[in-house]
Amino acid sequence: MHEKVDLHCHSISSDGELTPHELLELAAERGITHLALTDHDTLDGLPAAALAAQEHDICLIPGVELSCSWRGQLLHIVGLGVNPECAELKQGIAENQQRRWQRAERMIEDFLNHDIDLGKTVSGLLGDAVPTRPHFAQALIKLGYAKDKKQAFKRFLVRGKPGYIPLIWPDLTEIGRWIKAAGGIAVLAHPMRYNMTRTKLVALIEEMKAADIVGIEVSTPVNDANQIQMLAQLAREHKLLGSMGSDFHSPDQPWARLGTAQPLPSGVQPVWQAL
Ligand code: AMP
Ligand code: MN
Ligand code: MN
Ligand code: MN
Repeated sequence: MHEKVDLHCHSISSDGELTPHELLELAAERGITHLALTDHDTLDGLPAAALAAQEHDICLIPGVELSCSWRGQLLHIVGLGVNPECAELKQGIAENQQRRWQRAERMIEDFLNHDIDLGKTVSGLLGDAVPTRPHFAQALIKLGYAKDKKQAFKRFLVRGKPGYIPLIWPDLTEIGRWIKAAGGIAVLAHPMRYNMTRTKLVALIEEMKAADIVGIEVSTPVNDANQIQMLAQLAREHKLLGSMGSDFHSPDQPWARLGTAQPLPSGVQPVWQAL
């Protein structure tokens, strides 16, 4: 059967713009056969996504994107094929959500100290979602403090700028434990985004594997052909499962369109075949 795979995307349950239902509709339009919904630190979108996936005859892989730290750096790990009922995973996610809520409160205070009152606007935008920095970016745009998301993330929300509150995330090994407990496969998300040297990336891969994080995103639409070949080589050398995904958040981000990650290079074992 012809496969079209996208194992990394977001809905309104975190910082995406589409409902799970709209997301599955778009996936169907794009001819996607396998889709993983991987919202940041929440499983809330999965039931609605599963229903819509049935309608469109798409194989929905329950997923989550978890924030963690490694050597003081923020990393994202995608859990694929996780059981959303697993108590250990639910507990871990609850802890990350608590971190997010505490940070959101401190961000609002920090903005107030700069005479920017975002409280009501952010609350209105959040609905039932877990709070993320893009929600704050949206509020800043709505109130005229930034013209778009890019500018919001340039003027605010990042180190040294108003609204930046550092967050201490759980260690890599903890995340590996939660995903394994939930019967899922853990994958390093967007490896090129961390600006690591190859040596550092190899050190990370070794520690990841020891923490039961056994996959890596090899193909994403923002990686060029050389980067994809380099990541494929690492996956083959270190016997990592290969994943591919767009990191889709919104239809108006042309660099991350749903279903546009290139197929995996040969010799890389597809993670979705191991689920
Ligand atoms: P958070 O996990 O709440 O700290 O927010 C991180 C999310 O913000 C990422 O997953 C991206 O979706 C988004 N993000 C981070 N930096 C930028 C940026 N410079 N421009 C647009 N979105 C960004
Ligand atoms: Mn995001
Ligand atoms: Mn990410
Ligand atoms: Mn993501």
